[in-house]
Amino acid sequence: MNSLKVIDGKAAAARVLLQVKHDIAALGIQPGLAVILVGDDPASQVYVRNKVLRAEETGIRSLEYRLPADTGQASLLALIARLNADAQVNGILLQLPLPAHIDENRVLQAIAPGKDVDGFHSENVGGLSQGREVLTPCTPSGCMQLLHDTLGDLSGRHAVVIGRSNIVGKPMAALLLQAHCSVTVLHSRSQNAAQLCRQADIVIAAVGRPRMIDASWLKPGCVVIDVGINRIEDQGRSRLVGDVDFDSALPVASAITPVPGGVGPMTIAFLMKNTLTAALQQATPRSLPEAPCPSTC
Ligand code: NAD
Repeated sequence: MNSLKVIDGKAAAARVLLQVKHDIAALGIQPGLAVILVGDDPASQVYVRNKVLRAEETGIRSLEYRLPADTGQASLLALIARLNADAQVNGILLQLPLPAHIDENRVLQAIAPGKDVDGFHSENVGGLSQGREVLTPCTPSGCMQLLHDTLGDLSGRHAVVIGRSNIVGKPMAALLLQAHCSVTVLHSRSQNAAQLCRQADIVIAAVGRPRMIDASWLKPGCVVIDVGINRIEDQGRSRLVGDVDFDSALPVASAITPVPGGVGPMTIAFLMKNTLTAALQQATPRSLPEAPCPSTC
């Protein structure tokens, strides 16, 4: 395997976390992050445990709220209101998915936009699309950092985003546009998807289908960021693979993220970075909205 081509997400995440830790120590502050988990989804439990561990390592005080699966929406909204009003809490993370009886959109909108470290509140989503400086979703932000680390300036590159979810695909496209890329978004109804993808300098795969994208989708020399996390059975063993067929793509791409060890660690690192950003913004609230950046020109 050509290891120079393989983007090391763990090392990149460690650099982000070190910077956050350094900034927190230099500023002499202790940001607070509230993590809410409703129910006992095993994958969510692992994610929450990792988030709490990374918070402690970077000097962020974490508060865990583990609620039973039958928690009512009103109780969850009451907890969020309490955390919104608590000056010791700078960021609120609501681990998804939620049990079916809770209206996900309703509770996400209840989180104060300034504490919305996942960047899912419509005020932050709108701000991102207008090019304002807001809290942006952690996974796409982590992908942008990996792209800047790999390519430097992204201006003028053609990026293809495969997937249009609110969590990954749409904010990813908005961030790439802000970085002056030409952006194409492919989704489940796209026609000639592989042919369109072959025009891309940058490919972001966020579909949730194991190894769907192979070498035939890729232009030689493109950079591939694989967001997908899919559990498969392979020779009697359970393991994680991405949306990209890594072995097929490796000889064609100039750089590619592995799964695991690519985008995943960056998501958690950017949660910590967003928590620090939220704490700093709450300490110095802006009285005027930011002017739109020149990317809208
Ligand atoms: P989602 O199910 O909400 O969205 C999937 C998207 O893929 C949809 O917009 C759909 O239109 C598109 N799609 C489906 N079939 C397609 C096809 N044949 N061709 C083109 N597009 C198609 O999923 P999501 O929440 O965006 O997550 C996508 C993947 O990323 C999942 O594997 C998820 O586990 C992973 N993920 C990873 C991280 C991380 O930290 N690495 C974070 C979030 C999500």
